[in-house]
Amino acid sequence: MKRHLRFLMLALLPLTVVPGLSAGANDAAVPHVVLGIHGGTGLLKKDMTPALEKDLRKGLEQALNAGYAALKKPQGTSLDGVEAAIRVLEDDPWFNAGRGAVFTHDGRIELDASIMEGHSKKAGAVAGVTIIKNPITAARAVLEKSKHVMLISRGAEEFAREVRLEIVEPRYFETPHRKQQLEEELRAEKEKAAREKDAKETDDGAAATPRHGSHEWSTVGAVALDAHGNLAAGTSTGGMSNKRFGRVGDSPIIGAGTYADNRTCAVSCTGHGEYFIRFVVSHDISALIEYKGLPVQQAADEVICRKLKAAGGEGAAIALDPKGNFAMSRNTEGLYRGYVTAAGKITVLLYDD
Ligand code: ASP
Repeated sequence: MKRHLRFLMLALLPLTVVPGLSAGANDAAVPHVVLGIHGGTGLLKKDMTPALEKDLRKGLEQALNAGYAALKKPQGTSLDGVEAAIRVLEDDPWFNAGRGAVFTHDGRIELDASIMEGHSKKAGAVAGVTIIKNPITAARAVLEKSKHVMLISRGAEEFAREVRLEIVEPRYFETPHRKQQLEEELRAEKEKAAREKDAKETDDGAAATPRHGSHEWSTVGAVALDAHGNLAAGTSTGGMSNKRFGRVGDSPIIGAGTYADNRTCAVSCTGHGEYFIRFVVSHDISALIEYKGLPVQQAADEVICRKLKAAGGEGAAIALDPKGNFAMSRNTEGLYRGYVTAAGKITVLLYDD
């Protein structure tokens, strides 16, 4: 009887867990996947240009190729796959991670990253770093070569030097398009403040709010499953454009932006970090699988499309279960994403295409 009830509940779930989500907005989970990536929810489709679309697709494809090659090496692990894919996206100026990251309000670039391994539940993270070329590699070094989980700013940078990671000048990360993005946001803030002053409005702090609702979440992340059945997840970002100096989002926080557990899934998120931290999004997806037995796509949709959406939290998650089912869930128009199957077939998607 109990088993029948459970079966009935699971059968009804697809009809009940995502009210308000337009039909077909999320893909069904894709089977036989060994590596999945995202490059953020990105621009609204109306703002996309053919040239940018080409660059984004190329970057995602290169990341998938690099991750897959790392996974396929004789001793290749899921951590190798995740790190290799994310490094490509960090080096690509069109994604908000490493070179091409967004600026803080005061014109600096502060990077966050984390990585987690599903079988050992070991994790590593760095936050607020400004000179480490590949923050995801620093996060992995924290996991493998320190007794800690998270190192921040100067402490993380000193550690990166000690373990001989590549160090660059802060200006290496700067790109004209991100500078322009910040300038536009600062101008809009100023104009808004002036309008409010004129109208003597008392709009509770809205003028100081960093850009959101702009759909410009372009953090990168990866999830992988290796030949030993081990999962890993990683995420890397410059955070939110026009953020306060010292602000840390969800991406380097284990359980919020990144999580991996071999019994459930590996997850990487992108979106409005404050919501992802408060709703402990990546762990919540894992917990729905662990405690309720939900399939990975439904667990991700439940959190992203119901809980988060109802609270006004914009964003998306990718999740891979130990059987290779890959879920991509978003409450936004787009999600730059891609995956490779065990047979090596690559797929890249930006919107509903
Ligand atoms: N989640 C990131 C943050 O809040 C931003 C993003 O996904 O683009 O720092």
